[in-house]
This record gives sequence, structure tokens and C-alpha cells, in this order.
Amino acid sequence: MPDIPTTMKASILVSKHVLPYQCISGPRDGGRYDLSDACPECGTGAQRLDPLRFPISMLRDRVSYTLTNEVVIPPRLVAPIRSVAPRCLRVICDKAGKVSSYFELVPEVTLIPWSANTTGWCTSKLEPSCPKCGRDGYFNVPKQDLRIVYDSEVAPFSVGATYERFGKSRLRNDFRESHFAVSQILVAGAVEKILSGEKGISFIPVNFVVNESTEPIS
Ligand SMILES: [Zn+2]
Repeated sequence: MPDIPTTMKASILVSKHVLPYQCISGPRDGGRYDLSDACPECGTGAQRLDPLRFPISMLRDRVSYTLTNEVVIPPRLVAPIRSVAPRCLRVICDKAGKVSSYFELVPEVTLIPWSANTTGWCTSKLEPSCPKCGRDGYFNVPKQDLRIVYDSEVAPFSVGATYERFGKSRLRNDFRESHFAVSQILVAGAVEKILSGEKGISFIPVNFVVNESTEPIS
């Protein structure tokens, strides 16, 4: 029996605007992290609790990614996004911890592991996935779009994070030396619609399918 699409629609958010390395925030800046769902071996799954911190003067009036895959939302878009996804915004601070008018687009859900039919990713012999969780160590294939497939229903969301993490995690005794692999950011519904009007933004559709053969035959 053929696969049929479900009602859920979402896309990978892609921006051609990538912020310079000065705009990286991480364990090194002293921000707190929740490790309760993280791998005890590599730290993959650690959730940042504090706002990102970086030089606000480097931000522009556009939707940008940091080099660690955080989405920066300019002040102009904060109210529209807040009106449809209030849980998906977190303020960004300057290096001194002072609140700015820029916000981070924060996933409200981590998705289920993707289907084996997902393409456009690879692993690396040089930087293999963590042997305990197998959740980091994903990499993009050059010049090839990541085509994500989920083979079961998911609850509707506005901003989601892939279970799979790109790059290599390391959890160090000196926590500030730790580094965590990053999710792909998925957007859906009204948030996707708001961002679709932005320059430099594109979307790669995610495919949600349920196999009809698993449905009861009537
Ligand atoms: Zn691990």
C-alpha cells in the first residue's frame, strides 16, 4: 500500500544570513544548561536555560543563524511571532548580560527520530557518533538538501528541533570547555508563514507519512 501524507506540515528553516563567529554563545560564556535529558557520555541533548549572549552591534534587521544553529529574530518580527507562538521566543543579551530587542527562536518540542528514508546527511569516520547515544555526529552532505522524513504522526508544533544533532558533542569536566552538537530547526504553521516574507529565507519541506499498511483494513 502507498504511503499517504498526514495533515502536519513543517519545513526546515534555511537562512543565507549567517552571523560571524563572534556571535557564538555556549557553555564558555557561563550560561546555565539543563542536562536532565542529555547523554551522560557526550552531553548531547543539553538544553540552554539562559539567554544567548553576544555583541548586539553585529546583529542586523534580518532573520539570521548563528554558527551553532540558533535563529536570531530582529525586533520588527518579535510581536508577530509572539502573537502566534509565545513560547518560542527568548530574549538575547549583550556580552554584559543586558537585555536587547533581538530574540532567539526557541524550539518548543524535540521531534521523534527521523525515518531511515531521510536523505542528505552523512556521518564521519573522523568524528563518529557517540557510542552511547548515537545522537550526534550527523553532518550535511555538500550541495545536497537535507530531506527529512518522519514515518509517524507528530503533535502539531510551531518551532521544533530534530532529535538528530549535527556536529560533534563533547562533555568536559570543566563544563565551559563543553560543546554540544546542534539540531536542525523546523518551523510550521503561522510562524513559517511570518518568516516566509523575509529576504534570504527559504524552506525545505519535511515529509510526514504514515504507512497505510499499518492502518486497520476496513
Ligand atoms: Zn552521547
